Amino acid sequence: MTDSLFKNTLTYLKRAAELVKIDPRAFAILQAPKRSVEVNLPIRMDDGSQQIFTGWRVQYNDVLGPYKGGIRFHPLVSRQEVTALSALMTWKNAAVGLPYGGAKGGIAVDPQKLSTRELEELSRKYVDAIYPIIGPEKDVPAPDVNTNPQIMAWMVDEFSRLHGYAVPAAFTGKPVELGGIAGRDASTSQGGVFVLEWFLANSEQFKSRQPKDISVAVQGFGNVGATIAQILFHNGYRVVAVSDSEGALYHKNGLDIDAVLKSQQKKGKVAKNVCYPVKIKEVQEDVACETLTSAQLLESDVDILIPSAIENQLTAENASRIKAKLVLEMANGPTTPEAEEILEERGIVVLPDILANAGGVVGSYFEWVGNQQGYTWSNEDFADKLKNVMLKAATEIDAARYEYKTDFRTAAYIVALRRLSKAIKLRGWA
Ligand code: NAD
Repeated sequence: MTDSLFKNTLTYLKRAAELVKIDPRAFAILQAPKRSVEVNLPIRMDDGSQQIFTGWRVQYNDVLGPYKGGIRFHPLVSRQEVTALSALMTWKNAAVGLPYGGAKGGIAVDPQKLSTRELEELSRKYVDAIYPIIGPEKDVPAPDVNTNPQIMAWMVDEFSRLHGYAVPAAFTGKPVELGGIAGRDASTSQGGVFVLEWFLANSEQFKSRQPKDISVAVQGFGNVGATIAQILFHNGYRVVAVSDSEGALYHKNGLDIDAVLKSQQKKGKVAKNVCYPVKIKEVQEDVACETLTSAQLLESDVDILIPSAIENQLTAENASRIKAKLVLEMANGPTTPEAEEILEERGIVVLPDILANAGGVVGSYFEWVGNQQGYTWSNEDFADKLKNVMLKAATEIDAARYEYKTDFRTAAYIVALRRLSKAIKLRGWA
């Protein structure tokens, strides 16, 4: 699966390169990571035993600036997955115009099976192991799947301890008390909403429709999925289905996402929750919620589908059954190239990951800039700046789409490739 994620992203890059005709030597540099480090971390478990966990930090390309990318804790993390995600970070940062290269990190671990103390030790040992290659001017990690501000707090503390003084700019996605930004947590999802609403406002199909008449299904109910479902619910959209790894809840009137979230915090998994349909006065009948599998959610009859969980969810196998008219990729790599071709033939627009979910790294960029300068952003300032960067990127990618008569993803890769290949030339690498 994850091998294919790397192949997929290189396939997209090749498609873009055929249109912009980039120097083959610059293109060759972008086919593999610059540095890939594997670390083995012995952790003393609470029962006195020892377990060794394997982790990676892959630094794909830094021609545009310091490496930047999250750290994922998941049992299925592998070198291949981290490599693919580090490549995606490289294109993403370039596509939205950030002065960053791309990297990614990960540890093969199920953090739910660790105690808080074991998790802290693992987080600190990971930093000890990669300390020589990270730092504010070298490589700036952030949270990703199953990592959070607390883990960033331990990591930045460990980095600062090794360094001899506090270095808040070494990590982003930190708690506010340690130099984080209040809106950073929601910035991935908020950025996706800015891009989505920009698209809807410019789309013949959607521009005259009210949010309440636009139905949405969200796959994944974690940092990104739950937050985007909540923002869209508050913006008046009809969020009819949400799911996590164990199943989905569906109600045709729409779900009260605040209530689902509250219940999830108490009861855990989404599908085990009591269903909270939105009360619509003009709908008389009292229809019960349905539970679906996460795969069924992808095929539900909605206007907008938002994959926000894991990679390779829309494939050649299910693409012909997708009913949504628009796919907003909040997860990294949820659509395979084969699926994308089928969706395109069917007139289904895909707003690609490297644009749609870039709000997280844009938020991280503001956090890093503020930390470097000892400056704190107001919430309003942060939200305005995030919106500006996302809309500027969307507009630039849209212009490339028209110029090259292509789809959004290829256009986003074209914008990224133009920046990367120009910088490679200027630096004299090729
Ligand atoms: P998370 O761990 O907080 O949430 C993941 C969610 O997906 C959970 O609800 C989990 O139950 C669900 N899930 C896992 N497997 C599933 C399956 N097969 N079907 C349905 N649901 C499933 O992770 P996150 O931070 O929300 O990240 C989600 C995606 O967004 C990832 O692809 C990540 O790389 C991407 N992303 C995250 C950020 C960020 O700021 N957190 C930024 C950019 C991209």
